Amino acid sequence: MGRKREALLPHRLGIDLGGTKMHAVVIDAKGHVLATARRATKPEDGYHAVLKRLNTTIGEVAEAANVSLKELPAIGLGMPGPIDEERGMVHVAPNLGWRDKKVARDLGELIKNTVILGNDVNYGALGEATYGAAAGAPSSFAAFVGTGLGGGIILNGHLLNGRHGFAGEFGHIPSPFGKTKCSCGLIGCLETYASKTGIIRLIIEAKATGTPCYLDFDKNEKPKSSQIRQAWKDDCPATNKAVRESCRALAWGLASVAAIVDPAVFILGGGIMEALGKDLLKLVRDDMSEFSLLYSREKPDVRLAELGDDAVAIGAAVASGDASEVPHD
Ligand SMILES: [Zn+2]
Repeated sequence: MGRKREALLPHRLGIDLGGTKMHAVVIDAKGHVLATARRATKPEDGYHAVLKRLNTTIGEVAEAANVSLKELPAIGLGMPGPIDEERGMVHVAPNLGWRDKKVARDLGELIKNTVILGNDVNYGALGEATYGAAAGAPSSFAAFVGTGLGGGIILNGHLLNGRHGFAGEFGHIPSPFGKTKCSCGLIGCLETYASKTGIIRLIIEAKATGTPCYLDFDKNEKPKSSQIRQAWKDDCPATNKAVRESCRALAWGLASVAAIVDPAVFILGGGIMEALGKDLLKLVRDDMSEFSLLYSREKPDVRLAELGDDAVAIGAAVASGDASEVPHD
């Protein structure tokens, strides 16, 4: 611990850096979004070009919110990949093509302020726990279902990172559902079932074994979440089967998390979760009751995420506020 540094303003700025776009927010002391700014990432232009775009986007959102960067104790940046938080480094970020980059230092030099770097899924969980679906809950676990499956653990308002920033990464738990090869190289990881990619693969498999399917797509053009939602609403047999199986795998993963963390609230986020909506929550809760002794009598508290595309940037902003309590300089 060290000297306590005064934040000059209660506002906080966070930015979500993805492979295709960057998205920044400024929030006030109550977590209300005062301004947002977006820009394409264009990782193919190289590391320094992306840093410059981040700098421009940060400047833009600060100006829109009428905040000077000098008045903020730090800014938060959430990005994919395993992050070394102490050193402000990312080890590998495949969709940006970055390896061992000291992002906090390099961006900090450009914006002339401290940058707090963290994993995007963890920051999404922190955003939802602070101002979203689990606001006020003593503990929560947020699962984000997309191309892959990520998760973040929040205990007493604090993010649990673990030694490698890997805490909560339940997408790579070896699951008992099958032997599909995962993008990480291992066999049968949970995310090969519990993800949008998993749902699409299961739809293709169901179709191939003769289950009728109302979804029309070829292998090169993956269906959108909204199309899967429509097929699910229309009672498409292959889609229903795939969603049920995927959901069951997700519930198994959440029940496994419960056995270790026992969080008060579970949050489900990501485009496919939002598309399938509340219908899915009941399925997940029922399956969790089957997989967990904890929930055989009392159903788990499972909620849909509330912050949508702002979750990661808001979580990053929250994390930057923590920097005013524990100086990082
Ligand atoms: Zn894996």
